[in-house]
Amino acid sequence: MEKTPLFPGSSRAAAWHALSADDVVERLTVPDGGLSGDEVSRRREIFGENALPQKRPPTVVEVFLRQFMSPLIYVLLAAGIISVLFSDLTDAVFIFIVILINAVIGAFQEVKAERSATALQQMLTSSARVWRDGHPAAVPAEDLVPGDRVALESGDRIPADIRILTARTLTVDESLLTGESHAVGKNPDPVDASLPPGDRLNMLYAGSTVMSGRSTGIVVATGRQTEIGQIAETVMASGTGKPPLVIRMEDFSRKISIAVLAATGLLAIIVLGQGMPPIEVFFLAIALAVSAIPEGLPVALTVALSIATSRMAGRHVVVRFLAAVESLGSCTLIASDKTGTLTVNQQTARVVALPSGEEFSVTGAGYAGEGKVFDGNGALVSGSALRRLEHLARAATISNEAALERTDEGAWKHRGDAIDVAFLALTYKLGLDPAGIRESVTSVADIPFESEQRYAAVWYREDGSVRVAVKGAVETVLPFCRTMAGEQEWNMLLDRDRILRDLEDLSSRGYRVLAVARGEAEGDFSPEEPGMPPLELLGLVGFIDPIRPDVPDAVRRCRRAGVDVVMVTGDHPATALAIARELEIAESPAEVVTGADLDEIDPPTLPEFIDRVERGRVFARVTPLQKLRIVEAYRESGAFVAVTGDGVNDAPALRSANIGVAMGSGTDVAKDTASLIVTDDDFASIVAGIEEGRHAYDNVRKVVYLLVSTGFAEVLLFMLALILGLPLPLVAVQLLWLNLVTNGIQGVALAFEGGEPGVMNRPPRRPEEGVFDRLMIQETLLSGTVIAVIAIGAWYWLLGNGWGEFAARNLVVLLMVLLENFHVFNCRSEHRSAFRVPVSRNYFLIAGVIAAQGVHIAALYVPFLQEVLHLQPVSLVEWLSLLALASLVVVVMEVFKAVGGYRAHRHQTGFG
Ligand code: ADP
Ligand code: MG
Repeated sequence: MEKTPLFPGSSRAAAWHALSADDVVERLTVPDGGLSGDEVSRRREIFGENALPQKRPPTVVEVFLRQFMSPLIYVLLAAGIISVLFSDLTDAVFIFIVILINAVIGAFQEVKAERSATALQQMLTSSARVWRDGHPAAVPAEDLVPGDRVALESGDRIPADIRILTARTLTVDESLLTGESHAVGKNPDPVDASLPPGDRLNMLYAGSTVMSGRSTGIVVATGRQTEIGQIAETVMASGTGKPPLVIRMEDFSRKISIAVLAATGLLAIIVLGQGMPPIEVFFLAIALAVSAIPEGLPVALTVALSIATSRMAGRHVVVRFLAAVESLGSCTLIASDKTGTLTVNQQTARVVALPSGEEFSVTGAGYAGEGKVFDGNGALVSGSALRRLEHLARAATISNEAALERTDEGAWKHRGDAIDVAFLALTYKLGLDPAGIRESVTSVADIPFESEQRYAAVWYREDGSVRVAVKGAVETVLPFCRTMAGEQEWNMLLDRDRILRDLEDLSSRGYRVLAVARGEAEGDFSPEEPGMPPLELLGLVGFIDPIRPDVPDAVRRCRRAGVDVVMVTGDHPATALAIARELEIAESPAEVVTGADLDEIDPPTLPEFIDRVERGRVFARVTPLQKLRIVEAYRESGAFVAVTGDGVNDAPALRSANIGVAMGSGTDVAKDTASLIVTDDDFASIVAGIEEGRHAYDNVRKVVYLLVSTGFAEVLLFMLALILGLPLPLVAVQLLWLNLVTNGIQGVALAFEGGEPGVMNRPPRRPEEGVFDRLMIQETLLSGTVIAVIAIGAWYWLLGNGWGEFAARNLVVLLMVLLENFHVFNCRSEHRSAFRVPVSRNYFLIAGVIAAQGVHIAALYVPFLQEVLHLQPVSLVEWLSLLALASLVVVVMEVFKAVGGYRAHRHQTGFG
């Protein structure tokens, strides 16, 4: 066959919207079964990837250079230059070395953070459903090429520019393109070529989202050739702002800086008055300021948070905003979906209750058409009952969007909604072939299943008349029914009470119950406005959906961690309660609140509404709007709420929650609004996320503790020296060395600390509570004072016992390094003894401490460093004595923790 050249000229030249659907198919040479693999590769060659150019991530060199853009570095650089001018070359060289080491540490941290950010970005790509080689397939959105035949449904992000071929109740949010946020109805009809994109109702544009309905279409432009690609040459990777914690830390660093500068200024004036040469005072002041200001804090925090995000990714939680890591630690309530989150969403039809009152049981598990249907006496179903069951299965197969097939190898392949697939399995078990049923009818109109509608309907032509097949929630379908299938005859008058009793009975046994019905359209049928004729109820089907194996334990862990769990579901109250009971989320029907209950309290701003919500543990038959109201009510009552969601209409609730959690299997819309995505849909993963969030926050506190307490110790040491009339214990370069090298290495290592085991046994952190709470202030002041006092004591004693200033200073520097080496271990836990934090939780820290000490010992022997740092080798006895002395900082902090722990313990048991 001769190939027509693909798109004469640019794809933009074609006014796809003005062509008929058939023309589009022809011009893009799309076979019915979609493009072939070879053709896709050929077109990819021509049109490239379906992706917009991303902002290039910064190279390591760029990150490194960026480290020099900080006020403190400017000051140090200035100091270095002044040293050169005063021909103090060694000092100058040293200052430059310090700046360099600092930049290397900073760059290391940032590159690490950057890497995990890009890794996360890659986990967030969406997929598209296309036909390729005659089969439906899911491919990454980047793989689409012009001519691909795609299918879309509510909640999908539109992956490319698409000309619509078919559309059912299709509405689309194009606000990204047009700025208008209301949903626009779309249809396949050709429109005038001159219309602007916003008015081309038969086109779908990349970047917009499907709000309702279903559609198929042909990709006409990808990547840069799309409308959005034309507008935005480079769409930057979603500009995640700084997390609030980092902003608070910057603020905190600024305040500390001011305090440090004030203290340094005062010191400078005093030593100037004592006759120290101004140039020395200048260097000393700079060194002290640089050391005591925790300038590395915000970066260290970003690193701690991004380490947490990669840990979370390992536990199936993708963090979209760093801020979410921090807020997870404050979560006091999880409002969870039922289906798919608490349960596995592996629906299996287990019972069928026919309107006649007969009940049938179904065997076989999972998405496979193997199994049998037995009647109440345990006999294989046959005769009239079988016929009525077949009609039920037929209607459920027609009003169905899923597929379930046996492959040539004998394995079962499924696609589509879980309930729909389960209905198809039932059809097979009754000895029918779903594909055959579908081929025997021509569908003329449909209402696809949307969660808040709770039913699906398909109108089809058969035997010269138009009929409708319906399945959905019993409460929704029953009002459409006038008759029911009886044992002796069809179309008996409906016995509503009987059916509702059956529903109650099945639901309270934990089954999710759906009704199946059929009807015949009366009078003239118009596919645009298909009316619902009176229906005949064919029966109720009960599905089981097993609880996820790790959820009961996760719920218990939540309880211990002070995190409340409630269930929000569109399912029947009795079904919801049965599951909630099994999970110990709720016990009595009094704890179940239905959407109808909430509707009675209007407006929802009333205190009664909040009160009703607070007393509920299970929310059943709620609409997405009510879900939003529930979230708002909980927030109003002071809870810090995490909410799960998957549908298009969950977006408002996800946005309004403190932590929006989208399910990995959910819609693009939900994922785009959530701050977390749980890739395996599992409730237990959310709990793992909370645990990691708490760890991350703890680590942040540890780094803050280390940096602030050592800075404080250094300032205090100098103050004490002045007060006691002693010479200053450290020279400027020694301070820089101590702070930027020793502490720098250790601070990074501390950010890698594994979590403490007890994190899930304590209540959530209050969101407004700062990092610097009372305990932290006490520990910082105490440890800083201890370090300063030990050092000044040693300095005093050495000077008084025959050591010269140079030799004494040499020992004091070593002592300070050792003190800091020890102090890192204090910082590993705020409450627990340093000896009870296993080394295995952070080998990196051990390496960091050895590195810090090792580098210093090396400096004692390297001639150049010896000279600049005013150091000389020490004897083993001296080293051991200082080691013993330095260990005192651990002893004191251990006593403090033990007494504090004892008091907290007595407080709890004494007044419990
Ligand atoms: P949940 O909150 O448990 O996820 P859904 O929103 O998925 O509930 O469904 C709400 C109700 O809609 C269900 O209780 C059921 O009665 C009905 N339903 C669910 N799936 C389908 C389907 N594929 N076709 C028709 N009705 C359905
Ligand atoms: Mg659902």
